[in-house]
Amino acid sequence: MKIRYRLNPSNPCFSFEFYPPKTDEGTEALLKTVEELAPLAPGFVSVTYGAGGSTRERTLDLVTRIKRDTGITAMAHLTCVGHDRDELRALLRRLAEAGVENVLVLRGDPPTGGSGFVAHEGGFAYASELVQFIRDEDFGFCLGGACYPEGHVETVSRETDLTNLKRKVDAGLDFVITQLFFDNAFYFDFVERAHRAGINVPIVPGIMPITNYEQLQRFTRMCGATVPMRLALQLERVRDQPEALMQLGVAHATVQCMELLARGVPGIHFYTLNKSPATRMIVGALRARS
Ligand SMILES: Cc1cc2nc3c(=O)[nH]c(=O)nc-3n(C[C@H](O)[C@H](O)[C@H](O)COP(=O)(O)OP(=O)(O)OC[C@H]3O[C@@H](n4cnc5c(N)ncnc54)[C@H](O)[C@@H]3O)c2cc1C
Repeated sequence: MKIRYRLNPSNPCFSFEFYPPKTDEGTEALLKTVEELAPLAPGFVSVTYGAGGSTRERTLDLVTRIKRDTGITAMAHLTCVGHDRDELRALLRRLAEAGVENVLVLRGDPPTGGSGFVAHEGGFAYASELVQFIRDEDFGFCLGGACYPEGHVETVSRETDLTNLKRKVDAGLDFVITQLFFDNAFYFDFVERAHRAGINVPIVPGIMPITNYEQLQRFTRMCGATVPMRLALQLERVRDQPEALMQLGVAHATVQCMELLARGVPGIHFYTLNKSPATRMIVGALRARS
């Protein structure tokens, strides 16, 4: 099933993102997590692509197994990092042969400590170039991409970032998924600006339930997402009480999702961080209300 057919404001779908574990035991545990989330009838699940090394192979393996063993529509993330065109073509071929129909096309991040992104020799400097390549090679995938309501961390301005997003969408994207955000105002403003800029593909909000204080600090430092002052103060108060912190995180994400659904989003993508309880609670609450 191509994901673009699942993204519908009159029947929005929930989707879950996972990252590939480093070990075989971790992979088995993750497949159990996916099974635990299956009763929530996700529209699709996606598996991220690492910066290098063995987990990259596991992305392909996991996507194939999720699709085969659970019947859930699965999407592979793919980045430009460390690959030339021939390698990318071979990876895409493997995905197509495994029956995977959906790919989230990304540039990837520069290596930690590196200054700026440098294209691999014979590879690509921007996600839009990889999108164009996949379309030119005629693979027939449904393609998604990333977008940034608060602007990408490297960009000089939100306007420039939007112009670059338009270029990426025009190269052949079917939908985009946003970076995580904790204040819906950023999303609604972004959607309005994107529409004005002529971006007409579905824009799926990405939501991360907060379950760990230190992890939140790390992520927000990395991706530049703003934590609203009131939420930041509440989190600070319970930072050393895991249960209370999770309840606060779940409550905040649930309220965010309720507003997003009420205002007609085509779906909600959950950054699960490979854990099911928080996402299960949120989706359970949302389903109970609908
Ligand atoms: C939903 C989602 C899933 C993700 N999954 C993964 C994953 O699985 N693995 C992983 O490593 N990372 C992942 N990331 C992180 C992503 O790789 C980083 O945010 C990365 O820094 C940018 O990737 P991109 O595809 O958005 O890049 P691009 O769209 O190429 O944009 C990168 C930067 O370049 C600028 N730019 C784009 N085109 C041009 C141009 N023609 N000229 C000048 N500037 C330009 C943009 O404005 C932006 O600042 C994900 C992010 C999101 C939101």
